[in-house]
Amino acid sequence: MADAVPTFHPEPETLLGYAAGSLDEASSVLVATHLALCPRCRAEVRRLETVGGALTGSLEPVALAPDALATVLARLDEPEAPARRPAGPAFDRETLFSVPAPLRDYLGGNLSSLPWRWRGPSIRELPLAIGDGGPRASLIRVRPGTALPAHTHTGAETTLVLCGAFVDDGQSFARGDVSIATSDDDHQPVATPDAECLCFAVVDGPLRLTGPIGRLFNPFLRL
Ligand SMILES: [Zn+2]
Repeated sequence: MADAVPTFHPEPETLLGYAAGSLDEASSVLVATHLALCPRCRAEVRRLETVGGALTGSLEPVALAPDALATVLARLDEPEAPARRPAGPAFDRETLFSVPAPLRDYLGGNLSSLPWRWRGPSIRELPLAIGDGGPRASLIRVRPGTALPAHTHTGAETTLVLCGAFVDDGQSFARGDVSIATSDDDHQPVATPDAECLCFAVVDGPLRLTGPIGRLFNPFLRL
């Protein structure tokens, strides 16, 4: 069974930054992982690439999209990952291989053996070394029915659901969905009671389009 199409997506500006190659590495991995689960955003990124290619066709060769994007798009042709898994022992190979390749490449072969940190009786966090000096990236696993404690961060927090689901402010976020919270948001996500929830979280300041390609794209941000 194929995954359901996600309901919640990255911001248009984020997809644009991804297509322009101007996101930090952690955010790029998050977007690439979402793309693996979201045909709608895949199509949008391809469209933006086409626009970018047309715009940059007359510029210097340096203006081409980075190799990373081609690599990720090539991976999108991989067979679909297993559908949402039922409740039960978590973090076996099935769980690992339900994580799309762009993120899975950072995880190694055994989720259970990684150095998870205690963040409460039913919450574990695994910091991931993605990029140098960029936003903080981590995997978060939450037992069924557990509410996340209030937490603070100075920038935006983007969370991609990999397994299970959580409810936040009356909205349900399931596999492939992206939740975006700013430091001003007062919210408390709660994992649904049917399964353990595994998320990929990136905590950052505001995303900015930088560099020549980003500036080139900026006039189209609000189209
Ligand atoms: Zn999407």
